[in-house]
Amino acid sequence: MASRALVVGVGTYDVDSGIHGYPTIEASARAYGEALARDPRWGTAARSPVLDPHQARTADGVMRALHEAAAAGERPEDTLLVVYVGHGAYWQDVPGGQVHFAVGSSRINEPWTWLSAWYVYRAIRKSKAGLKVLIADCCYSSMLPHLGPEPVLPGVLGTRFRGTCVFTAVGGAVHNAWAGACANLPAPLDGCTTFSGHLLNVLGQGMPHHPDDLTLGALRAGIEEGMQECGVHDRPRMLLNDASEAALLFTNRAKGRSRMRTPGTVDEWVRELLLNGERKLPALMNRPDLAGRVVVQLKRGDEQSRDLARRVDRTAGELLTNPVDFVRYWGEIERAMLGGG
Ligand SMILES: [Zn+2]
Repeated sequence: MASRALVVGVGTYDVDSGIHGYPTIEASARAYGEALARDPRWGTAARSPVLDPHQARTADGVMRALHEAAAAGERPEDTLLVVYVGHGAYWQDVPGGQVHFAVGSSRINEPWTWLSAWYVYRAIRKSKAGLKVLIADCCYSSMLPHLGPEPVLPGVLGTRFRGTCVFTAVGGAVHNAWAGACANLPAPLDGCTTFSGHLLNVLGQGMPHHPDDLTLGALRAGIEEGMQECGVHDRPRMLLNDASEAALLFTNRAKGRSRMRTPGTVDEWVRELLLNGERKLPALMNRPDLAGRVVVQLKRGDEQSRDLARRVDRTAGELLTNPVDFVRYWGEIERAMLGGG
């Protein structure tokens, strides 16, 4: 039937809960609501996607809203977007080990008062929307797993509309997301959490050097570039499952300010792939040695980059049917593996 977004921001807790509240969390949730209302891709919703604090007080309230949002998606072109901003915790001694999201009535060190990510994942997976995206801005979001089943690689080149994405404020060994604001951001985003503030800034400003709407890859690149300018933030993390970097999520408010140019250097190709996925891969494969160097560079990157390296490598096996070309491609990778650079 339609694309649906649900924004859950829990920044106020009971006085005796032992959990510290942050005004930045609710400010972030409100700002997501405003950004979605402004975006023609999302602005048609009849009511605000931001869950009211009364419903966000209990796991039951959050899950009922989530199931309703998940049920709205029916077609491959529908998107389900779930945003959680608040406190996260991780307990190892619950079944399977799980990240838990705080709700308004949660109490510290009492896992049963929190909402296990397992239930959130279950509800999102049940949605028939073609693209399912979870944005988690909380501590221990680094421990959240893939949303979908084991990765299935795209069988065709270019845009693929089905799949899942988990985009988290922190990754790697960093477990603490910074709930404080970033003073470098324009008002009112300087009152949001750091990760959400930077994300919302990309939505607000657009990406002037990116000619198209905001793909998952472009959104991540835009946030990282903004955060790098600040120089003090931890890197966010993006887990893609089936979904390609090329999946469109938001309107680019600065769209069309620059012209699309075919990438030339290794760095330009790495950026193109991270922003837009594999849509231009056939052009890259016309230069097998360059393709090899691009894969080498991607392999040195983070989870998203390494995953992309695997996809490019697989495509190279399919597209480079001439053995001479494949040897030129593979030669670059082999040289790097042997320590030649
Ligand atoms: Zn910043």
